[in-house]
Amino acid sequence: MILNIKDVLESPDIRKDFEFDIFFKNSPFDDKNLLNKKILFKGYLENKHSLVSLYISTNFKHPFLCDRCLCDFEEEFSLSYNHIISKDNSYCSEDEKDVILCENNVIDLSDISISDLIMSSPFKVLCKKECKGLCFKCGIDLNYNCCSCNKKEIDPRLQILGQLLS
Ligand SMILES: [Zn+2]
Ligand SMILES: [Zn+2]
Repeated sequence: MILNIKDVLESPDIRKDFEFDIFFKNSPFDDKNLLNKKILFKGYLENKHSLVSLYISTNFKHPFLCDRCLCDFEEEFSLSYNHIISKDNSYCSEDEKDVILCENNVIDLSDISISDLIMSSPFKVLCKKECKGLCFKCGIDLNYNCCSCNKKEIDPRLQILGQLLS
């Protein structure tokens, strides 16, 4: 969504609220998961003593496949972001990604929100922290079942030794 923010840039002590949604076919987090739904974003722009700040927040459920046991699960995300809007390159911040350059009095809220989401991608997705995963030998789900596979990989050289000894 392209938003004209001339009014906010030019008048101190003003607040402008907004709301918009973006349809995501693919997940913004990775290329494995389909999302197929709209995500709603809410936020506002505020001009305080000529410093313009942008606040965006979102809350949504995302379906995943567990990296360890491959089961389906949903995780809820509540994310919020803030940025400084600058009309030129004069504003310096320690963190450059926090500053958004505004040209021609417009900002692209969709673009900003999508890159914020990508920055929030979870590193690893597990159905639960202590997920035991699948047995790498028989494929059984170790969260619900036990198997008698020997989980230690035996060094093939030692295996030959074992055969000689038995
Ligand atoms: Zn799992
Ligand atoms: Zn097994």
